[in-house]
Amino acid sequence: MATVTELRERLRRPLAAELAAGCQNRVVAGGVDKLLASPLGNPFPKVREVLDGYGKLSVDERETVLKAALATLSEGEKAKAAPRTPRPAARQAVPTAAPGERLPIDAPLARLDTGPGGARKLQTLGLHTLRDVLHAYPHRHEDRRALPDLSDVEEGQKVTVAGRVVAKSRRSPRPGMLVLDVTLETPSGGRVKATWFNQPWVEKQLREGAAVVLTGRVKKFGRTVQLGVEHLETLDNAQDSLSTGRIVGVYDAKDGISQEFLRRAAFRALGAAPLDDYLPTHWRKKYGITDLADALWGQHFPRDEAHLSRATSRLRFDEYLFLELRMLLQGEDSVLQGKRFQAKGDDINRFENALPFRFTNAQRRVLLEITDDMRGDQQMARLVQGDVGSGKTAVAACALYLAVRDGYQGALMAPTEILARQHYANLRGYLGQLDVRVGLLIGAMSPRDKLEMHTRIAEGEVDVVVGTQALIQENVRFDNLGLAVVDEEHRFGVQQRRKLLASRPDVLVMSATPIPRSLALTAYGDLELSIIDELPPGRTPIETKLLQDTHRTQAYGFVMKQIREGQQAFVVTALIEESDTLELLAATQLAEDLKTILPEARIDLLHGRMSAHEKDDVMERFRAHEFDILVSTTVIEVGVDVPNATVMVIENAERFGLAQLHQLRGRVGRGHQQSYCVLIAGEHSQKTRKRLKIIEGSTDGFVIAEADLKLRGPGELRGTRQSGIPDLRLADLANDTEVIERARELAKHILAHDPRLEHPRLQYLRSELQNRSESVAYREVI
Ligand code: ADP
Ligand code: MG
Repeated sequence: MATVTELRERLRRPLAAELAAGCQNRVVAGGVDKLLASPLGNPFPKVREVLDGYGKLSVDERETVLKAALATLSEGEKAKAAPRTPRPAARQAVPTAAPGERLPIDAPLARLDTGPGGARKLQTLGLHTLRDVLHAYPHRHEDRRALPDLSDVEEGQKVTVAGRVVAKSRRSPRPGMLVLDVTLETPSGGRVKATWFNQPWVEKQLREGAAVVLTGRVKKFGRTVQLGVEHLETLDNAQDSLSTGRIVGVYDAKDGISQEFLRRAAFRALGAAPLDDYLPTHWRKKYGITDLADALWGQHFPRDEAHLSRATSRLRFDEYLFLELRMLLQGEDSVLQGKRFQAKGDDINRFENALPFRFTNAQRRVLLEITDDMRGDQQMARLVQGDVGSGKTAVAACALYLAVRDGYQGALMAPTEILARQHYANLRGYLGQLDVRVGLLIGAMSPRDKLEMHTRIAEGEVDVVVGTQALIQENVRFDNLGLAVVDEEHRFGVQQRRKLLASRPDVLVMSATPIPRSLALTAYGDLELSIIDELPPGRTPIETKLLQDTHRTQAYGFVMKQIREGQQAFVVTALIEESDTLELLAATQLAEDLKTILPEARIDLLHGRMSAHEKDDVMERFRAHEFDILVSTTVIEVGVDVPNATVMVIENAERFGLAQLHQLRGRVGRGHQQSYCVLIAGEHSQKTRKRLKIIEGSTDGFVIAEADLKLRGPGELRGTRQSGIPDLRLADLANDTEVIERARELAKHILAHDPRLEHPRLQYLRSELQNRSESVAYREVI
């Protein structure tokens, strides 16, 4: 019988030959997978695991796994020579890269050593490959190079301190106010008091002895330094060199995923990835941008401000470049044959005459733009942008009516079931009296009702169907779909989606996200844009009041007064980006808190952990006035109408972006009564105050967006939450006009010489473009 050593050698030899022959899977008859499935593979389960699915891997991946397998085999040989070596405890399904070993840029994260469960954690953040991690930039940076000397910090100064929790206590100086005091000892023996107001959920993170890094503003009481904390980070290791003593990136995270872990993952990824530049040197020179490796390192681990700044310039340039390339490339086939409608003036008049109001001038203008599209041959792809309540749905209803009058069916897709129901009710109001048959199709319906609706749609017995996006995903067969209206769609998904719609209907998208016109073209790309920039007459503008949280009780006194008058109120809790568990905890505690200070009010809770069905249920009951105050995390952002709700209270308003505040405020003012928005702000900077003042001073979404852009310094608008454009993580649309133009110039230049990016020199660029299109953020919306 063959010894294990002999078997090992019999396995090793073909694998080594396969590696030498360039990993084409041609050396072993039947392929590597067959070889391993044979009895020869039996004694080597680890090798089998490592090489599992070899035939399906790319050449690069094959090379890596082969090397790992060969290493495993020779390790086995050594282990035999020294038989008592303890086995490594953890077995991993996929071998991770040895230090210094390069992985292909699209290697799955299981191949990167990120510690136990690391790859899975990253996956929950939507990061799957090395590339994803490299491009998951910090949303901001913190200067932790020289932590301040506590004896000479100044009142109001923003500082970052590191240390250990040595004491904590909580107090409630007055009802409805909770103060958490924590004492921190710094490595040099100094002491800092940190305070949190009305954020009881923070307490859990602060065990005694925990190593923490705090950023906040200094308040001095005699010799005591107190910090109003804006950012809190707990560390496993107080000395971690990636998290202290340098400029440190702060990443988007989630529960159970620490900043420390994310920094380590980024560090490993940078070390393992081939950072070959896809832009040739002469172009980099011409456009004055640094090389890719320098940029990626500088984004995650900048040596100094200059490094960070040139890193950001380069990566931002790239984002626009790829965006422009994609748009230019897509442009080729975007002229799709669509429906051709008559869209008769008579029909428009008939629709308007059935309305209880007249269209505003803005609605009329937009309707003209839409009907122009509808009459043409080309498939319409138009975005109607307008503030909440500006009358987008009424305009869309008119377009649907025109489609129906021309013998087509129409569809209206909403992002949630409750919104679908709301649109259904509205459309029935608009269209019912015009003999248009409107149907509803949502998941909550019984299978029988659904089936019946399917049949009626297929047989043309329904003219307009309202539903969630399942409308086009489930196999709903339309008899003759001519126009699809999509509410609140991620704009970048539209292009893809409209190709999915087999019958090539015209597509109209409605969005309430205000983006100034100057930026809209870049943001929306190839969608035609219509803007409703005027509210219907007779609206009483919402009154907005900004309060410091010391006046919180007063705010709720006002809420109670409204409730006694029969109105209802929304209360939104602090936005906690890092953790939805904490956000939920915050909301739960706030609800309990309010039950104490407003014992007469009926209070219920809505949060993101609820199923869609549970959310709908809570909203339905709120709408039916079964309770008075809806405490909620930010999940109510989407446009549900509760006309009887006249107050919107937003706690910790300083944590929200202006666009978000504006959207939240739009939840009230849907009825006839005067409505109010109360912004309760915790500790915040002068700059934040200025921004909050913008909201207090205006209810016009466009004005707010413009003012917001003007106020922001370069680099402050970061991440997709603000720009709403998944591809632009570093975008600072207010200041990027020049970059956008230069990126477009280069994109055009590239495509003018090589329309399909076929030149071998552009091979990297092409694959980067493809991969970015398929990258996380983009995948989400397709
Ligand atoms: P949006 O979809 O932009 O949020 P809607 O179309 O739902 O706005 O309109 C909001 C409310 O205003 C609805 O109650 C609608 O009936 C009403 N409305 C729409 N257009 C007008 C108008 N021109 N004049 C008066 N009321 C209008
Ligand atoms: Mg709407």
